[in-house]
Amino acid sequence: MDSAAGSCNACGAAATALMKLSLGKDFFGRTYDRLSPSTDQSPKWYCEGCSMQKNIQRDFRDILGEFDKLAAGQHSSLSTQEEFQRASLRLREISTILNGTAGRSPFLTSVEVGQLIDRMQTATMRT
Ligand SMILES: [Zn+2]
Repeated sequence: MDSAAGSCNACGAAATALMKLSLGKDFFGRTYDRLSPSTDQSPKWYCEGCSMQKNIQRDFRDILGEFDKLAAGQHSSLSTQEEFQRASLRLREISTILNGTAGRSPFLTSVEVGQLIDRMQTATMRT
């Protein structure tokens, strides 16, 4: 393993398996450009725990961004019942992970996730 400094870019863990995180597709299946190998100018290395957390953060950000668009009356990936449902389930899953024993995330707090879940629930009730 010749991963540069040899420690996780998020938590600093050393002497553990590190992986260069290539996120590929985002939660809504869109190509995630910044971390694709050809365009990523500053690849980061994360240990297993942090790469899981990083994926969680990415999904959360995708869902938050789309929900903000939906709330503003713009076209959103969450416009369909199916996607909205899928995103709601994913948020619950994220919330469960963050509240679990392995959950402390360097990227995201369970409070932020809880707020988004509440906002989405309120939106569901209004329709
Ligand atoms: Zn780490």
